[in-house]
Amino acid sequence: MQRDHEARPVGPVDATKVPRFTGLVTFARLPRLEDLESCDIAVLGVPFDSGTSFRPGARFGPEAIRAASRLIRTYNPALDISPFDACQVADAGDLAISPFNIDAAVAEIERGLGDVLASCDHVVTLGGDHTIALPILRVLHRRFGPIAVVHFDAHLDTWDTYFDAPITHGTPFRRASEEGLLAKGNCIHLGIRGPIYDRVDLSDDSDLGFKVRPAYTMGEARYDEVLGEIRDRVGDRPVYVSVDIDVLDPGFAPGTGTPEPGGLTSRELLALMRGLADLPIIGADVVEVAPAYDHAQITALAATHVAYELVSVIALKYGRGNTGLSS
Ligand code: MN
Ligand code: MN
Repeated sequence: MQRDHEARPVGPVDATKVPRFTGLVTFARLPRLEDLESCDIAVLGVPFDSGTSFRPGARFGPEAIRAASRLIRTYNPALDISPFDACQVADAGDLAISPFNIDAAVAEIERGLGDVLASCDHVVTLGGDHTIALPILRVLHRRFGPIAVVHFDAHLDTWDTYFDAPITHGTPFRRASEEGLLAKGNCIHLGIRGPIYDRVDLSDDSDLGFKVRPAYTMGEARYDEVLGEIRDRVGDRPVYVSVDIDVLDPGFAPGTGTPEPGGLTSRELLALMRGLADLPIIGADVVEVAPAYDHAQITALAATHVAYELVSVIALKYGRGNTGLSS
């Protein structure tokens, strides 16, 4: 069921009337999808971290990101949009997934995301570890065909296996490429850094369809140069934006599973998110927030603002909403 666009969206709880630290927590204090039945953009928690290779804990990412999102305000001045007024945004809750069996979990994510997409045009997913990108891409490929992945991460995530396990948080984009889910030649990683196992990892990655923009070449580059490279790479393909929060420097995102020094600042990452506004984005995720290693919600706050910017750029398809001060 799709939403009646004549109806005015149901917005978040008004923080000028109900303090932010009260009430049940949904993303940005938005209504729950189950209370609306349909929406334009759903924010969905996927609390799965059994594909993690080092520090576990991203299963608590969705609740940490939601808790930090209570501080989100409604008008986005940098994009001149009130995303929650331009379209109906809702919190679709968390998927209930097996923490013990990766294959079962992946099937449950495919089924659960399919259910949400039956009543919502777009889903922004809160992870969970990066394993979840594989079932998400499978579902989106069925609807849209080959997908251009714009992947922000310290790590390539195109490795083959760990301990013979083919589906982990270090392998989703290799499996996706092998399964034909990706628009090969239209995918790009941004923010890659740190030592890897072998030089062949990079040539394999290229063969799988990706271009690499390393973090150490991003500091000197202007935003428009990096964004131009992304635009040239994706062409007119449907775009999926996948943000591993470890693309940020550990100073901006300590609460994650495999931190790497030398990453982006949150200001750089948020500017790049806003710069994606003219791309045909079909879905997005923010993954690898592991709150047990976080301090003062630094990582959760960064992740929630990444999610807010992603919702904003998708919402621009529907207009700018009421951007007056009274909204
Ligand atoms: Mn990573
Ligand atoms: Mn990753």
